[in-house]
Amino acid sequence: MEELWQGGYCNCFVKLKIMTHKLLVLTSGGDSPGMNAALRSVVRSCHYYGIEVYGCRRGYQGLVDQDIFPMDAASVANCIQRGGTILQTSRCLAFHDYAVREKCRFFLNAAKIDLLVAIGGDGTFRGATFLENEGGPKVIGIPGSIDNDIVGTEYTIGYDTARNTALDAIDKIRDTATSHDRYFLVETMGRRAGFLAADVAIAGGAEYIITPEFPISVEELAAKILAPRRKKQSLIIVVAEADHPGRSVAIAKQLEKLTSFEYRVCILGHMQRGGSPTAMDRIHASYMGNLAVESLLAGKSKYMTSIQQGQYVLAPFPDPSKPGRCLTDVKVINLDEILSV
Ligand code: ADP
Repeated sequence: MEELWQGGYCNCFVKLKIMTHKLLVLTSGGDSPGMNAALRSVVRSCHYYGIEVYGCRRGYQGLVDQDIFPMDAASVANCIQRGGTILQTSRCLAFHDYAVREKCRFFLNAAKIDLLVAIGGDGTFRGATFLENEGGPKVIGIPGSIDNDIVGTEYTIGYDTARNTALDAIDKIRDTATSHDRYFLVETMGRRAGFLAADVAIAGGAEYIITPEFPISVEELAAKILAPRRKKQSLIIVVAEADHPGRSVAIAKQLEKLTSFEYRVCILGHMQRGGSPTAMDRIHASYMGNLAVESLLAGKSKYMTSIQQGQYVLAPFPDPSKPGRCLTDVKVINLDEILSV
């Protein structure tokens, strides 16, 4: 600890105790647009507070490989508008192993790194919690996920960009669907949560939505399509991938049999993860990055930055024994059907 004397107001002298910290930042798990904006905010907040900051390449794999490097304000120049993560990311199975984490901890302790900002999802936070509990650096997480499915926050970084990317695709599909009188199934990401599917269906005027929370059988869907109502020449059904990415192909085949219409399938896939982050993602990421650093300096740890009722606050890491955040209000499904009549 360094002790500094600084001149204060009215010629008095104020004694400030400045801890010397070293902070490591990493991005881990699934990438999401806006991670770079969060990274930039972390690095520049550290610069502002005079903290040494290091980047770790490829998430926890970089810790295993001891692949860390010093960063400064210039290291994050011109990255706020870029998708993906300039630190790169990984799914590192080895990090589940205590002995591997122990080596990482020894490495970090030897490097005198005492603070960690982990940008990622539930899995990333679990890994970081183990590391801290076992004697590693104090950690604050920043939630990054295009699914918006992390318990404790109303928003995860990357969600708005993914939503707009998928919406843009649906608008384009609508053009061709209308021109050719075609029926389409558009499959979005979203394993456990249907936020992405529901939002783009409402915003894109899709006729039906299938989400993991409110599943509908193919028979029910076929009955809805065949029900007497305003005759539509084209139709868009948004399907969240749920546990079976690519499942819309099978659904389309079953629907063809049951309704005798032809269906085209468009699986949006990984394009939803890419692209330049929207203003919303950049702004939330910037606030969260700064909050993460300030919280660590205030002695807080094992929290993630979050948005609750429009405010940036800290929230406990999600409980791994509990399910993730998901749609709870069937209103979205009903609204979509009311509006697409
Ligand atoms: P996300 O962070 O997006 O949820 P993952 O679930 O793949 O993505 O988690 C990211 C990484 O976090 C994993 O590849 C692994 O290195 C680490 N991790 C996840 N769960 C654990 C765990 N139970 N113990 C230790 N490390 C974990």
